Amino acid sequence: MITLSSYLCGTWQAGSGAPTSLFNPTTGEAIAEASSRGLDLAAACEHARTVGGPALRALTFAERGQLLKRLAAALHEHREELLDLSQQNGGNTRGDAKFDVDGATGTLAAYAHFSKELPDATTLADGEGIQIGRTARWWGQHVMTPKLGVAVHINAFNFPGWGMFEKLACAILAGMPVISKPGTQTALPAHRMAQIAVESGILPEGSFQFLCGSAGDLLDHLGPQDVVAFTGSAWTGAIIRGNANLVKNNVHVNVEADSLNAVVVGADLDLGSDTFGDFLAFTSKEMTQKTGQKCTAARRIFVPSDLLDEVVPELVAALERIVVGDPTDGGTGMGPVTSASQLQELREGIDALAAAGTIATGGSEPVGDKGWFLRPTLVVANDPDDAIFHEKELFGPVAVVLPYDASKGPEEAARLANKGGGSLLGAIYCDDGEWAKACALGMAPWHGRVWVDSARAKGQAMPPGMVLPSMIHGGPGRAGGGQELGGLRGLEDYLQRTAIQGFGGWVKAEFGAPEPVEAS
Ligand code: NAP
Repeated sequence: MITLSSYLCGTWQAGSGAPTSLFNPTTGEAIAEASSRGLDLAAACEHARTVGGPALRALTFAERGQLLKRLAAALHEHREELLDLSQQNGGNTRGDAKFDVDGATGTLAAYAHFSKELPDATTLADGEGIQIGRTARWWGQHVMTPKLGVAVHINAFNFPGWGMFEKLACAILAGMPVISKPGTQTALPAHRMAQIAVESGILPEGSFQFLCGSAGDLLDHLGPQDVVAFTGSAWTGAIIRGNANLVKNNVHVNVEADSLNAVVVGADLDLGSDTFGDFLAFTSKEMTQKTGQKCTAARRIFVPSDLLDEVVPELVAALERIVVGDPTDGGTGMGPVTSASQLQELREGIDALAAAGTIATGGSEPVGDKGWFLRPTLVVANDPDDAIFHEKELFGPVAVVLPYDASKGPEEAARLANKGGGSLLGAIYCDDGEWAKACALGMAPWHGRVWVDSARAKGQAMPPGMVLPSMIHGGPGRAGGGQELGGLRGLEDYLQRTAIQGFGGWVKAEFGAPEPVEAS
Protein backbone atom coordinates (compact mmCIF):
# COMPACT_ATOMS: atom_id res chain seq x y z
CA MET A 1 0.00 0.00 0.00
CA ILE A 2 1.47 3.34 -1.03
CA THR A 3 0.98 6.28 1.35
CA LEU A 4 0.61 9.54 -0.57
CA SER A 5 1.90 12.68 1.07
CA SER A 6 1.58 16.41 0.50
CA TYR A 7 4.32 18.87 -0.48
CA LEU A 8 3.84 21.90 1.76
CA CYS A 9 6.26 24.56 3.01
CA GLY A 10 9.17 22.90 1.19
CA THR A 11 8.76 19.37 2.62
CA TRP A 12 6.78 16.20 1.91
CA GLN A 13 4.40 15.60 4.81
CA ALA A 14 1.92 12.80 5.53
CA GLY A 15 -1.32 13.58 7.36
CA SER A 16 -2.41 11.77 10.49
CA GLY A 17 -5.61 9.90 11.40
CA ALA A 18 -7.64 7.47 9.32
CA PRO A 19 -6.60 7.83 5.66
CA THR A 20 -8.83 7.66 2.56
CA SER A 21 -8.18 4.60 0.38
CA LEU A 22 -7.55 4.83 -3.36
CA PHE A 23 -8.60 1.85 -5.51
CA ASN A 24 -7.87 0.13 -8.77
CA PRO A 25 -11.38 0.28 -10.33
CA THR A 26 -10.63 -2.68 -12.60
CA THR A 27 -10.19 -5.05 -9.67
CA GLY A 28 -11.68 -3.15 -6.73
CA GLU A 29 -8.38 -3.52 -4.80
CA ALA A 30 -7.09 -0.74 -2.55
CA ILE A 31 -3.72 0.45 -3.91
CA ALA A 32 -2.86 3.62 -1.98
CA GLU A 33 -4.03 5.87 0.82
CA ALA A 34 -3.92 9.55 1.65
CA SER A 35 -4.71 11.83 4.56
CA SER A 36 -4.31 15.56 5.00
CA ARG A 37 -5.47 15.64 8.60
CA GLY A 38 -3.28 17.73 10.89
CA LEU A 39 -1.37 19.48 8.10
CA ASP A 40 -0.79 23.19 8.68
CA LEU A 41 -2.61 24.74 5.73
CA ALA A 42 -2.42 28.29 7.11
CA ALA A 43 1.38 27.97 7.00
CA ALA A 44 1.21 26.63 3.43
CA CYS A 45 -0.79 29.68 2.31
CA GLU A 46 1.70 32.00 4.00
CA HIS A 47 4.65 30.12 2.44
CA ALA A 48 3.13 30.67 -1.00
CA ARG A 49 2.48 34.38 -0.34
CA THR A 50 5.84 35.18 1.22
CA VAL A 51 8.25 32.85 -0.63
CA GLY A 52 6.66 31.64 -3.88
CA GLY A 53 4.88 34.85 -4.91
CA PRO A 54 7.87 37.20 -4.66
CA ALA A 55 10.09 34.70 -6.53
CA LEU A 56 7.60 34.41 -9.39
CA ARG A 57 6.91 38.13 -9.60
CA ALA A 58 10.62 38.80 -9.94
CA LEU A 59 10.51 36.92 -13.25
CA THR A 60 9.20 38.32 -16.53
CA PHE A 61 6.39 36.65 -18.46
CA ALA A 62 8.97 35.28 -20.87
CA GLU A 63 10.95 33.73 -18.01
CA ARG A 64 7.83 32.22 -16.49
CA GLY A 65 6.93 30.82 -19.92
CA GLN A 66 10.32 29.09 -19.98
CA LEU A 67 9.51 27.43 -16.63
CA LEU A 68 6.36 25.97 -18.16
CA LYS A 69 8.25 24.70 -21.18
CA ARG A 70 10.84 22.97 -19.01
CA LEU A 71 8.15 21.52 -16.74
CA ALA A 72 6.31 20.05 -19.75
CA ALA A 73 9.56 18.38 -20.85
CA ALA A 74 10.32 17.03 -17.35
CA LEU A 75 6.85 15.45 -17.07
CA HIS A 76 7.01 14.09 -20.60
CA GLU A 77 10.20 12.16 -19.72
CA HIS A 78 8.08 10.11 -17.29
CA ARG A 79 5.18 9.61 -19.73
CA GLU A 80 5.11 5.79 -19.68
CA GLU A 81 5.16 5.63 -15.88
CA LEU A 82 2.39 8.24 -15.67
CA LEU A 83 0.22 6.42 -18.22
CA ASP A 84 0.63 3.26 -16.17
CA LEU A 85 -0.43 4.99 -12.94
CA SER A 86 -3.48 6.51 -14.69
CA GLN A 87 -4.50 3.06 -15.87
CA GLN A 88 -4.09 1.61 -12.38
CA ASN A 89 -5.90 4.26 -10.40
CA GLY A 90 -8.27 5.76 -13.00
CA GLY A 91 -9.37 2.63 -14.86
CA ASN A 92 -8.24 4.39 -18.03
CA THR A 93 -7.55 2.72 -21.35
CA ARG A 94 -4.17 3.77 -22.70
CA GLY A 95 -5.93 6.25 -24.98
CA ASP A 96 -7.85 7.74 -22.03
CA ALA A 97 -4.65 7.96 -19.99
CA LYS A 98 -2.89 9.79 -22.83
CA PHE A 99 -5.77 12.24 -23.02
CA ASP A 100 -5.01 13.25 -19.42
CA VAL A 101 -1.21 12.98 -19.29
CA ASP A 102 -0.49 14.43 -22.74
CA GLY A 103 -3.22 16.99 -22.09
CA ALA A 104 -1.21 18.17 -19.07
CA THR A 105 2.13 18.47 -20.87
CA GLY A 106 0.47 19.82 -24.03
CA THR A 107 -1.28 22.61 -22.11
CA LEU A 108 1.95 23.58 -20.31
CA ALA A 109 3.73 23.70 -23.67
CA ALA A 110 0.89 25.72 -25.21
CA TYR A 111 1.11 28.35 -22.46
CA ALA A 112 4.89 28.49 -22.88
CA HIS A 113 4.14 29.27 -26.52
CA PHE A 114 1.46 31.87 -25.70
CA SER A 115 3.94 33.64 -23.42
CA LYS A 116 5.84 34.73 -26.54
CA GLU A 117 3.00 37.18 -27.21
CA LEU A 118 3.64 38.89 -23.87
CA PRO A 119 6.21 41.61 -23.26
CA ASP A 120 9.49 40.77 -21.53
CA ALA A 121 8.16 42.52 -18.44
CA THR A 122 6.55 41.76 -15.08
CA THR A 123 3.27 43.59 -15.66
CA LEU A 124 0.98 44.01 -18.66
CA ALA A 125 -0.62 46.98 -20.39
CA ASP A 126 -4.25 46.10 -21.09
CA GLY A 127 -5.18 47.64 -24.42
CA GLU A 128 -4.42 51.14 -25.67
CA GLY A 129 -4.16 54.19 -23.44
CA ILE A 130 -7.06 56.64 -23.45
CA GLN A 131 -7.16 60.44 -23.41
CA ILE A 132 -9.44 61.24 -20.49
CA GLY A 133 -8.77 64.99 -20.09
CA ARG A 134 -9.24 68.00 -22.37
CA THR A 135 -5.82 67.27 -23.83
CA ALA A 136 -3.41 64.33 -23.93
CA ARG A 137 -1.75 65.69 -20.77
CA TRP A 138 -4.39 63.78 -18.75
CA TRP A 139 -4.30 60.13 -19.73
CA GLY A 140 -5.51 56.69 -18.60
CA GLN A 141 -4.10 53.23 -19.10
CA HIS A 142 -5.36 49.88 -17.79
CA VAL A 143 -2.61 47.66 -16.38
CA MET A 144 -2.60 44.07 -15.15
CA THR A 145 -0.45 43.08 -12.18
CA PRO A 146 -0.18 39.64 -10.49
CA LYS A 147 -2.29 39.25 -7.35
CA LEU A 148 -0.17 39.02 -4.21
CA GLY A 149 -1.82 35.94 -2.71
CA VAL A 150 -2.00 32.21 -3.41
CA ALA A 151 -3.99 30.44 -6.11
CA VAL A 152 -5.78 27.43 -4.60
CA HIS A 153 -6.66 24.85 -7.25
CA ILE A 154 -9.18 22.14 -6.36
CA ASN A 155 -9.62 19.50 -9.04
CA ALA A 156 -12.08 16.74 -9.95
CA PHE A 157 -11.11 13.07 -10.01
CA ASN A 158 -11.52 12.57 -13.74
CA PHE A 159 -8.51 14.55 -15.00
CA PRO A 160 -5.83 14.33 -12.30
CA GLY A 161 -3.04 15.44 -14.66
CA TRP A 162 -4.65 17.85 -17.09
CA GLY A 163 -6.77 19.47 -14.35
CA MET A 164 -3.70 20.21 -12.25
CA PHE A 165 -1.49 21.60 -14.99
CA GLU A 166 -4.03 23.53 -17.10
CA LYS A 167 -4.76 25.62 -14.02
CA LEU A 168 -1.12 25.80 -12.93
CA ALA A 169 0.01 26.97 -16.40
CA CYS A 170 -2.23 30.05 -16.22
CA ALA A 171 -1.41 30.94 -12.60
CA ILE A 172 2.36 30.52 -12.90
CA LEU A 173 2.50 32.47 -16.17
CA ALA A 174 0.48 35.25 -14.53
CA GLY A 175 2.88 35.25 -11.57
CA MET A 176 0.82 33.62 -8.79
CA PRO A 177 2.00 30.69 -6.62
CA VAL A 178 -0.20 27.61 -6.49
CA ILE A 179 -1.51 25.10 -3.96
CA SER A 180 -2.93 22.24 -6.01
CA LYS A 181 -5.34 19.66 -4.61
CA PRO A 182 -6.39 16.69 -6.77
CA GLY A 183 -9.58 14.66 -6.33
CA THR A 184 -8.46 12.15 -3.72
CA GLN A 185 -9.83 8.99 -5.31
CA THR A 186 -7.52 9.22 -8.36
CA ALA A 187 -4.64 11.17 -6.81
CA LEU A 188 -1.96 8.57 -7.60
CA PRO A 189 -0.87 9.98 -11.00
CA ALA A 190 -1.27 13.57 -9.71
CA HIS A 191 0.98 12.73 -6.74
CA ARG A 192 3.68 11.32 -9.05
CA MET A 193 3.43 14.39 -11.29
CA ALA A 194 3.82 16.61 -8.24
CA GLN A 195 6.92 14.63 -7.20
CA ILE A 196 8.41 15.07 -10.68
CA ALA A 197 7.67 18.78 -10.61
CA VAL A 198 9.30 19.20 -7.18
CA GLU A 199 12.31 16.97 -7.93
CA SER A 200 12.94 18.85 -11.18
CA GLY A 201 13.57 22.04 -9.18
CA ILE A 202 12.19 24.03 -12.10
CA LEU A 203 9.57 26.02 -10.22
CA PRO A 204 10.85 28.46 -7.58
CA GLU A 205 10.37 27.24 -4.01
CA GLY A 206 6.92 28.17 -2.68
CA SER A 207 5.41 28.62 -6.13
CA PHE A 208 4.06 25.06 -6.23
CA GLN A 209 2.61 23.14 -3.29
CA PHE A 210 0.56 19.95 -3.44
CA LEU A 211 -2.18 18.92 -1.01
CA CYS A 212 -3.17 15.27 -1.12
CA GLY A 213 -6.38 14.35 0.73
CA SER A 214 -9.31 16.46 1.84
CA ALA A 215 -9.19 20.26 1.55
CA GLY A 216 -9.63 20.51 5.34
CA ASP A 217 -9.72 24.12 6.49
CA LEU A 218 -7.71 25.44 3.53
CA LEU A 219 -10.41 27.85 2.34
CA ASP A 220 -10.69 29.40 5.79
CA HIS A 221 -7.16 30.83 5.47
CA LEU A 222 -7.71 32.74 2.23
CA GLY A 223 -7.96 36.49 1.86
CA PRO A 224 -8.72 39.18 -0.72
CA GLN A 225 -5.53 38.72 -2.77
CA ASP A 226 -6.06 34.94 -3.07
CA VAL A 227 -7.90 33.02 -5.78
CA VAL A 228 -9.81 29.74 -5.81
CA ALA A 229 -10.24 27.76 -9.02
CA PHE A 230 -12.49 24.77 -8.53
CA THR A 231 -13.51 21.94 -10.84
CA GLY A 232 -16.03 19.36 -9.70
CA SER A 233 -19.71 18.82 -9.08
CA ALA A 234 -22.22 21.67 -8.93
CA TRP A 235 -23.00 20.55 -5.38
CA THR A 236 -19.41 21.03 -4.12
CA GLY A 237 -19.10 24.20 -6.20
CA ALA A 238 -22.08 25.67 -4.34
CA ILE A 239 -20.53 24.76 -0.96
CA ILE A 240 -17.26 26.45 -1.94
CA ARG A 241 -18.98 29.57 -3.25
CA GLY A 242 -20.91 29.77 0.01
CA ASN A 243 -17.83 29.42 2.26
CA ALA A 244 -18.26 32.20 4.82
CA ASN A 245 -14.60 33.25 4.76
CA LEU A 246 -14.49 33.45 0.95
CA VAL A 247 -17.70 35.48 0.93
CA LYS A 248 -16.48 37.81 3.70
CA ASN A 249 -13.18 38.51 1.94
CA ASN A 250 -14.59 38.61 -1.60
CA VAL A 251 -12.05 35.99 -2.64
CA HIS A 252 -12.22 35.50 -6.40
CA VAL A 253 -13.70 32.03 -7.08
CA ASN A 254 -13.87 30.36 -10.50
CA VAL A 255 -16.15 27.33 -10.72
CA GLU A 256 -16.15 24.67 -13.44
CA ALA A 257 -18.99 22.29 -12.65
CA ASP A 258 -21.55 19.85 -14.07
CA SER A 259 -22.80 19.99 -17.58
CA LEU A 260 -25.54 18.22 -19.51
CA ASN A 261 -23.87 18.81 -22.85
CA ALA A 262 -26.10 18.90 -25.91
CA VAL A 263 -25.60 17.24 -29.29
CA VAL A 264 -27.95 18.40 -32.05
CA VAL A 265 -28.55 16.53 -35.29
CA GLY A 266 -29.65 19.24 -37.72
CA ALA A 267 -32.96 19.03 -39.59
CA ASP A 268 -32.70 17.29 -42.96
CA LEU A 269 -29.20 15.92 -42.28
CA ASP A 270 -28.41 13.38 -44.98
CA LEU A 271 -27.76 10.13 -43.16
CA GLY A 272 -25.35 9.06 -45.90
CA SER A 273 -23.25 12.22 -45.44
CA ASP A 274 -19.78 12.60 -43.94
CA THR A 275 -21.33 14.89 -41.34
CA PHE A 276 -23.60 12.10 -40.13
CA GLY A 277 -20.57 9.75 -40.16
CA ASP A 278 -18.79 12.22 -37.86
CA PHE A 279 -21.87 12.34 -35.62
CA LEU A 280 -21.79 8.57 -35.14
CA ALA A 281 -18.02 8.36 -34.61
CA PHE A 282 -17.70 11.41 -32.34
CA THR A 283 -20.86 10.85 -30.29
CA SER A 284 -20.09 7.20 -29.51
CA LYS A 285 -16.55 8.30 -28.55
CA GLU A 286 -17.76 11.24 -26.45
CA MET A 287 -20.09 8.92 -24.53
CA THR A 288 -17.42 6.34 -23.75
CA GLN A 289 -14.01 8.06 -23.66
CA LYS A 290 -12.88 8.00 -20.01
CA THR A 291 -15.99 5.86 -19.49
CA GLY A 292 -18.12 8.96 -19.91
CA GLN A 293 -16.42 10.63 -16.93
CA LYS A 294 -15.69 13.76 -18.88
CA CYS A 295 -17.22 17.16 -18.21
CA THR A 296 -17.67 17.60 -21.98
CA ALA A 297 -19.16 14.13 -22.63
CA ALA A 298 -22.27 13.80 -24.82
CA ARG A 299 -25.27 13.66 -22.46
CA ARG A 300 -28.37 14.78 -24.40
CA ILE A 301 -28.69 14.01 -28.11
CA PHE A 302 -31.42 15.92 -29.94
CA VAL A 303 -32.64 14.18 -33.08
CA PRO A 304 -35.41 15.33 -35.47
CA SER A 305 -38.42 13.07 -34.72
CA ASP A 306 -38.68 12.00 -38.36
CA LEU A 307 -35.05 10.72 -38.30
CA LEU A 308 -35.30 8.93 -34.95
CA ASP A 309 -35.94 5.43 -36.32
CA GLU A 310 -32.86 5.63 -38.51
CA VAL A 311 -30.46 7.47 -36.18
CA VAL A 312 -30.98 5.43 -33.00
CA PRO A 313 -30.13 1.98 -34.48
CA GLU A 314 -26.97 3.37 -36.08
CA LEU A 315 -25.82 4.93 -32.81
CA VAL A 316 -26.68 1.75 -30.91
CA ALA A 317 -24.60 -0.28 -33.39
CA ALA A 318 -21.62 2.09 -32.93
CA LEU A 319 -21.89 1.79 -29.12
CA GLU A 320 -22.25 -1.98 -29.16
CA ARG A 321 -19.00 -2.29 -31.12
CA ILE A 322 -17.09 -0.81 -28.14
CA VAL A 323 -15.42 -3.55 -26.08
CA VAL A 324 -15.87 -3.08 -22.32
CA GLY A 325 -13.25 -4.64 -20.07
CA ASP A 326 -9.80 -4.46 -18.52
CA PRO A 327 -8.41 -1.11 -19.70
CA THR A 328 -4.88 -2.51 -19.85
CA ASP A 329 -5.93 -4.92 -22.64
CA GLY A 330 -5.14 -3.39 -26.02
CA GLY A 331 -8.52 -4.31 -27.54
CA THR A 332 -10.56 -2.64 -24.80
CA GLY A 333 -12.48 0.47 -25.82
CA MET A 334 -13.94 1.37 -22.43
CA GLY A 335 -12.81 0.63 -18.88
CA PRO A 336 -14.64 0.79 -15.54
CA VAL A 337 -16.04 3.82 -13.75
CA THR A 338 -13.79 5.03 -10.98
CA SER A 339 -15.57 4.04 -7.78
CA ALA A 340 -18.16 1.71 -6.31
CA SER A 341 -20.29 4.66 -5.19
CA GLN A 342 -20.25 6.10 -8.67
CA LEU A 343 -21.33 2.78 -10.15
CA GLN A 344 -24.22 2.69 -7.70
CA GLU A 345 -25.24 6.27 -8.51
CA LEU A 346 -25.17 5.52 -12.22
CA ARG A 347 -27.24 2.37 -11.82
CA GLU A 348 -29.91 4.30 -9.93
CA GLY A 349 -29.77 7.13 -12.46
CA ILE A 350 -30.18 4.79 -15.44
CA ASP A 351 -33.22 3.19 -13.81
CA ALA A 352 -34.75 6.64 -13.26
CA LEU A 353 -34.18 7.62 -16.91
CA ALA A 354 -35.53 4.29 -18.12
CA ALA A 355 -38.78 4.96 -16.25
CA ALA A 356 -39.30 8.02 -18.48
CA GLY A 357 -38.12 6.42 -21.74
CA THR A 358 -36.81 3.24 -23.36
CA ILE A 359 -33.36 1.73 -23.05
CA ALA A 360 -32.00 1.32 -26.59
CA THR A 361 -28.76 -0.34 -25.46
CA GLY A 362 -26.88 -0.99 -22.19
CA GLY A 363 -28.72 -0.73 -18.89
CA SER A 364 -28.07 -0.60 -15.18
CA GLU A 365 -26.76 -4.18 -14.79
CA PRO A 366 -23.05 -4.16 -13.93
CA VAL A 367 -20.66 -6.14 -16.14
CA GLY A 368 -18.39 -8.85 -14.67
CA ASP A 369 -17.90 -9.97 -11.09
CA LYS A 370 -15.12 -7.61 -10.03
CA GLY A 371 -14.38 -3.96 -10.58
CA TRP A 372 -16.93 -1.30 -11.50
CA PHE A 373 -18.08 -1.87 -15.08
CA LEU A 374 -21.20 -0.81 -16.96
CA ARG A 375 -22.10 -1.01 -20.65
CA PRO A 376 -22.49 2.16 -22.75
CA THR A 377 -26.13 3.06 -22.25
CA LEU A 378 -28.50 4.95 -24.52
CA VAL A 379 -32.03 5.85 -23.43
CA VAL A 380 -34.68 7.25 -25.81
CA ALA A 381 -36.89 9.81 -24.06
CA ASN A 382 -40.68 9.63 -24.26
CA ASP A 383 -41.06 13.38 -23.80
CA PRO A 384 -38.13 15.71 -24.63
CA ASP A 385 -39.47 18.32 -22.19
CA ASP A 386 -39.45 15.92 -19.23
CA ALA A 387 -37.29 17.62 -16.59
CA ILE A 388 -35.58 14.37 -15.60
CA PHE A 389 -33.49 14.49 -18.77
CA HIS A 390 -32.28 18.03 -18.19
CA GLU A 391 -31.58 18.12 -14.47
CA LYS A 392 -29.31 15.34 -13.27
CA GLU A 393 -25.86 14.74 -14.68
CA LEU A 394 -25.05 11.01 -14.84
CA PHE A 395 -21.25 11.04 -14.81
CA GLY A 396 -20.64 7.91 -16.83
CA PRO A 397 -21.23 6.27 -20.25
CA VAL A 398 -24.89 7.25 -20.41
CA ALA A 399 -26.77 9.53 -22.81
CA VAL A 400 -30.36 10.22 -23.76
CA VAL A 401 -31.80 10.68 -27.24
CA LEU A 402 -34.50 13.35 -27.26
CA PRO A 403 -36.69 13.67 -30.37
CA TYR A 404 -37.57 17.22 -31.42
CA ASP A 405 -40.06 18.67 -33.87
CA ALA A 406 -37.86 19.99 -36.68
CA SER A 407 -40.85 21.69 -38.37
CA LYS A 408 -40.58 24.33 -35.62
CA GLY A 409 -37.14 25.33 -36.90
CA PRO A 410 -33.68 25.48 -35.29
CA GLU A 411 -35.13 27.52 -32.40
CA GLU A 412 -36.88 24.38 -31.16
CA ALA A 413 -33.62 22.40 -30.98
CA ALA A 414 -31.97 25.35 -29.20
CA ARG A 415 -34.88 25.72 -26.77
CA LEU A 416 -34.55 22.10 -25.67
CA ALA A 417 -30.74 22.20 -25.55
CA ASN A 418 -30.92 25.26 -23.30
CA LYS A 419 -33.01 23.33 -20.76
CA GLY A 420 -29.74 21.95 -19.37
CA GLY A 421 -29.60 25.15 -17.31
CA GLY A 422 -26.19 26.15 -18.64
CA SER A 423 -23.70 23.79 -20.28
CA LEU A 424 -20.06 23.65 -21.25
CA LEU A 425 -20.65 22.43 -24.76
CA GLY A 426 -23.22 22.20 -27.51
CA ALA A 427 -22.31 20.23 -30.66
CA ILE A 428 -24.29 20.69 -33.89
CA TYR A 429 -24.06 18.40 -36.92
CA CYS A 430 -25.59 20.25 -39.85
CA ASP A 431 -24.83 20.93 -43.51
CA ASP A 432 -27.23 23.88 -43.76
CA GLY A 433 -25.27 27.00 -42.77
CA GLU A 434 -28.35 29.17 -42.11
CA TRP A 435 -30.00 26.53 -39.92
CA ALA A 436 -26.75 25.94 -38.03
CA LYS A 437 -26.26 29.69 -37.47
CA ALA A 438 -29.75 30.13 -36.00
CA CYS A 439 -29.31 27.08 -33.77
CA ALA A 440 -25.80 28.17 -32.63
CA LEU A 441 -26.96 31.70 -31.79
CA GLY A 442 -30.01 30.31 -29.99
CA MET A 443 -27.75 28.10 -27.86
CA ALA A 444 -24.90 30.58 -27.31
CA PRO A 445 -26.22 32.37 -24.17
CA TRP A 446 -26.54 29.02 -22.36
CA HIS A 447 -23.34 27.39 -23.60
CA GLY A 448 -19.66 28.17 -23.09
CA ARG A 449 -18.73 26.60 -26.40
CA VAL A 450 -20.73 25.78 -29.53
CA TRP A 451 -19.06 23.44 -32.01
CA VAL A 452 -20.51 23.01 -35.49
CA ASP A 453 -19.50 20.23 -37.86
CA SER A 454 -20.43 20.31 -41.54
CA ALA A 455 -19.32 18.94 -44.89
CA ARG A 456 -17.30 22.09 -45.48
CA ALA A 457 -15.10 21.29 -42.44
CA LYS A 458 -14.58 17.73 -43.68
CA GLY A 459 -11.56 16.04 -42.16
CA GLN A 460 -10.71 19.07 -40.00
CA ALA A 461 -13.06 18.82 -37.03
CA MET A 462 -11.61 17.43 -33.82
CA PRO A 463 -14.07 15.67 -31.49
CA PRO A 464 -16.23 18.30 -29.76
CA GLY A 465 -15.24 17.23 -26.24
CA MET A 466 -11.62 18.17 -26.80
CA VAL A 467 -10.75 21.20 -24.68
CA LEU A 468 -8.11 23.33 -26.39
CA PRO A 469 -5.82 25.71 -24.47
CA SER A 470 -6.52 28.42 -27.04
CA MET A 471 -10.31 28.32 -26.58
CA ILE A 472 -12.25 29.13 -23.43
CA HIS A 473 -13.53 26.29 -21.26
CA GLY A 474 -16.47 26.89 -18.93
CA GLY A 475 -20.15 27.61 -19.12
CA PRO A 476 -22.97 29.59 -17.50
CA GLY A 477 -25.48 28.46 -14.89
CA ARG A 478 -25.14 24.89 -13.69
CA ALA A 479 -21.79 24.60 -15.54
CA GLY A 480 -20.44 26.88 -12.80
CA GLY A 481 -20.49 30.30 -14.43
CA GLY A 482 -16.71 30.25 -14.77
CA GLN A 483 -14.15 30.33 -17.55
CA GLU A 484 -10.67 28.87 -17.91
CA LEU A 485 -8.05 28.78 -20.65
CA GLY A 486 -8.89 30.70 -23.84
CA GLY A 487 -5.25 31.52 -24.52
CA LEU A 488 -4.03 34.55 -22.57
CA ARG A 489 -7.59 35.17 -21.28
CA GLY A 490 -6.82 32.30 -18.87
CA LEU A 491 -4.39 34.56 -16.95
CA GLU A 492 -7.06 37.08 -16.01
CA ASP A 493 -8.20 35.20 -12.88
CA TYR A 494 -4.75 35.75 -11.42
CA LEU A 495 -4.16 39.37 -12.41
CA GLN A 496 -5.62 42.58 -10.99
CA ARG A 497 -6.74 45.07 -13.64
CA THR A 498 -6.08 48.64 -12.46
CA ALA A 499 -6.83 51.92 -14.24
CA ILE A 500 -3.79 54.19 -13.90
CA GLN A 501 -4.62 57.86 -14.46
CA GLY A 502 -2.14 60.71 -14.55
CA PHE A 503 0.09 62.97 -16.63
CA GLY A 504 -0.01 61.64 -20.19
CA GLY A 505 3.72 61.50 -20.88
CA TRP A 506 4.42 59.67 -17.64
CA VAL A 507 1.53 57.17 -17.94
CA LYS A 508 2.48 56.33 -21.54
CA ALA A 509 6.16 55.92 -20.75
CA GLU A 510 5.77 53.90 -17.57
CA PHE A 511 2.61 51.87 -18.20
CA GLY A 512 1.81 51.93 -21.93
CA ALA A 513 2.28 48.92 -24.18
CA PRO A 514 5.82 48.83 -25.58
CA GLU A 515 6.09 50.04 -29.19
CA PRO A 516 6.23 47.09 -31.59
CA VAL A 517 9.81 46.47 -32.76
CA GLU A 518 10.19 47.27 -36.48
CA ALA A 519 11.44 44.31 -38.49
CA SER A 520 14.70 45.31 -40.20
P1 NAP B 1 -16.54 16.63 -6.38
O1 NAP B 1 -16.99 15.53 -5.52
O2 NAP B 1 -17.33 17.87 -6.41
O3 NAP B 1 -15.02 16.92 -5.93
C1 NAP B 1 -14.23 17.85 -6.62
C2 NAP B 1 -13.08 18.32 -5.74
O4 NAP B 1 -13.61 19.08 -4.66
C3 NAP B 1 -12.28 17.17 -5.11
O5 NAP B 1 -10.93 17.53 -5.10
C4 NAP B 1 -12.87 17.10 -3.71
O6 NAP B 1 -11.96 16.57 -2.78
C5 NAP B 1 -13.08 18.57 -3.43
N1 NAP B 1 -14.05 18.86 -2.37
C6 NAP B 1 -15.11 18.12 -1.99
N2 NAP B 1 -15.77 18.76 -1.00
C7 NAP B 1 -15.10 19.91 -0.75
C8 NAP B 1 -15.27 21.00 0.16
N3 NAP B 1 -16.30 21.03 1.01
N4 NAP B 1 -14.38 22.00 0.15
C9 NAP B 1 -13.35 22.00 -0.72
N5 NAP B 1 -13.12 21.00 -1.60
C10 NAP B 1 -13.99 19.97 -1.63
O7 NAP B 1 -16.40 16.17 -7.90
P2 NAP B 1 -15.72 14.86 -8.47
O8 NAP B 1 -16.59 13.70 -8.13
O9 NAP B 1 -14.27 14.83 -8.12
O10 NAP B 1 -15.76 15.16 -10.04
C11 NAP B 1 -16.90 14.90 -10.84
C12 NAP B 1 -17.65 16.17 -11.14
O11 NAP B 1 -16.76 17.15 -11.67
C13 NAP B 1 -18.71 15.97 -12.20
O12 NAP B 1 -19.88 16.57 -11.78
C14 NAP B 1 -18.15 16.69 -13.42
O13 NAP B 1 -19.12 17.21 -14.29
C15 NAP B 1 -17.34 17.76 -12.81
N6 NAP B 1 -16.29 18.20 -13.71
C16 NAP B 1 -16.39 19.43 -14.30
C17 NAP B 1 -15.42 19.87 -15.17
C18 NAP B 1 -15.49 21.22 -15.82
O14 NAP B 1 -14.48 21.66 -16.35
N7 NAP B 1 -16.60 21.89 -15.80
C19 NAP B 1 -14.31 19.07 -15.43
C20 NAP B 1 -14.23 17.84 -14.82
C21 NAP B 1 -15.23 17.41 -13.96
P3 NAP B 1 -11.96 15.02 -2.38
O15 NAP B 1 -11.73 14.25 -3.63
O16 NAP B 1 -10.85 14.92 -1.41
O17 NAP B 1 -13.33 14.76 -1.81
